[in-house]
Amino acid sequence: MTASELIASNIAALQQRIADACLRVGRNASQVRLLPVSKNHSVSAIAAARAAGITRFGENRVQELVAKATELPGVEFSLIGPLQSNKIKFVAQWATEFQGLETLKVAAGLDRRLQNLGRSLDVLVQVNTSGESSKFGLAPDEVPGFARELGAFDSLNVRGLMTIAAPGPDLARVAECFVTLRELRDRLQADQVAGSDWPELSMGMSGDYELAIEHGATCVRIGTAIFGERPV
Ligand SMILES: *Cc1c(COP(=O)(O)O)cnc(C)c1O
Repeated sequence: MTASELIASNIAALQQRIADACLRVGRNASQVRLLPVSKNHSVSAIAAARAAGITRFGENRVQELVAKATELPGVEFSLIGPLQSNKIKFVAQWATEFQGLETLKVAAGLDRRLQNLGRSLDVLVQVNTSGESSKFGLAPDEVPGFARELGAFDSLNVRGLMTIAAPGPDLARVAECFVTLRELRDRLQADQVAGSDWPELSMGMSGDYELAIEHGATCVRIGTAIFGERPV
């Protein structure tokens, strides 16, 4: 198998496992979107996934996102992870989605840049559900107050919440993170906070996406299981 064939076959296998996980809990597979995470992987790897029908990719470094978006017109990129103020203008111009909003300063900066460009951006608020200090995101109890402020930013399409679960083999602990995110989302949804119905729950990576789907994920972010180990 060539590298491109392997990527296509990994995507097909994942789509099947996503569909199977949906079936186990009575969900429709169309409710779960696969976001391949192409960080540290080449433009040719992205092109191979593109040929297999994928149109949007996740990147966690702004410079890399811009470089790839420049080389691959027509491919959409989602920034997954933190955004520093000095990179806001690049994200406003080049990203289709930002999964990682956690400060009002960045929200305001993005909104202003987007207005100047006549664009809008889908955003997900990142939540630290594991309580680990190494993880980005708001503490769960900070989210409702933060979310209410987002209604002020017309160019941000507030779509939902994103989290990275606790790492490691303790599945009960991982599941707790997913439940926390889902319960938070359900509250925001019930209250239509920020004028949004909060459709998105982005949770689950290569090691835990099936569990995430069973707990309601609408977007799974998957790198290694598609592209292999990341070159450093
Ligand atoms: C790298 C990354 C992923 C993908 O991780 P894999 O374990 O390779 O699937 C998902 N989400 C975020 C935020 C990441 O940075």
